[in-house]
Amino acid sequence: MYELVVLTCLAADAPPVCAERLLPSAEPLTEAACAATADQRAQAWAEAHLDLVLSEPRCALRAETGPVLSLEQVAPGVFVHTGKIGIPSPETGADLANLGIIVGEESISVIDAGGSRAVGEAFYRAIRAISDKPIEAVLLTHMHPDHTLGAGVFAELGADVIGHPKLDRALRSRAENYETSLGALLGAEAFIGTRAVFPTVAAEDGMEIDLGNRRILLRIWPTAHTDNDLTVFDAKTGTLFAGDLVFDTHTPALDGSLLGWRKVLDEIGETATRVIPGHGGPVLDWPAGGAPLRRYLGLLTEDTRAALRKGESLGEATKHIAQGEAGKWALFGEFNIRNATAAYKELEWE
Ligand SMILES: [Zn+2]
Repeated sequence: MYELVVLTCLAADAPPVCAERLLPSAEPLTEAACAATADQRAQAWAEAHLDLVLSEPRCALRAETGPVLSLEQVAPGVFVHTGKIGIPSPETGADLANLGIIVGEESISVIDAGGSRAVGEAFYRAIRAISDKPIEAVLLTHMHPDHTLGAGVFAELGADVIGHPKLDRALRSRAENYETSLGALLGAEAFIGTRAVFPTVAAEDGMEIDLGNRRILLRIWPTAHTDNDLTVFDAKTGTLFAGDLVFDTHTPALDGSLLGWRKVLDEIGETATRVIPGHGGPVLDWPAGGAPLRRYLGLLTEDTRAALRKGESLGEATKHIAQGEAGKWALFGEFNIRNATAAYKELEWE
């Protein structure tokens, strides 16, 4: 099938910084059908992206329009892309979170969208290599940019953007900062066309989505990894997409509540036989697969409480809190001090 691609350049830059972007179509298109609407669709997209200059709209076979993310089937109709373990850079790009899809008889739900428009497009191409069924929903597990900033491509298809009731506010207050900081880390060219999109539906706890002979269950959680964590459960295969409520390999990142997170971990996955973490995995047995995360969060709590009892300053405490876990996780240096700081500030009020 054919897709419309356009050359997009940052309007303000001389010499121009440019990259091709894919403008998705909800319907599979022949070359002629794509060409018939190309100028009109490019024009509409340009009007919504005034920071960009568009040129050279063309229709091409989908597989030839850019990279395709790898997607592996982890259970019947459940596919996962394993993000890289790393921090955003020109080398790793914004492909740093696990992404997934669940395919029913009628439609597809997407779980998280990657950290840039380019990653979202590569994910879209990978999905379309598996199925042409309508993509009805993109479910965002929480606000963090590596999970959310690729969602625009799915929103343009007409998919509902669904998240925790607190996701909208969390994203709106951070979107500009996310876009600026991630754009700087990745480089302007890799980031062209990336823009946060906001939820169109606030999930209720226990909300179900029917994909056609397949119901998936959404749960919203009290503050844990963030204040807007959502999980997605596929009852048919017992698969739980946990977002960043579960980390594997990658050092956990605390951006909500340490005690809240430990409590939520005891409750998620009760009926799951496999859990897809937000990073690492991509498939964990449950509850055994959550043991390293529980251990880390447990030590973070114990060490922080001990430091507070001794009256250590924040600066002294963060030098040693949870250092017993160093060497057991990737990116420990990048994340542990930040976690220790968050833990200290939370627990000093106990
Ligand atoms: Zn996260």
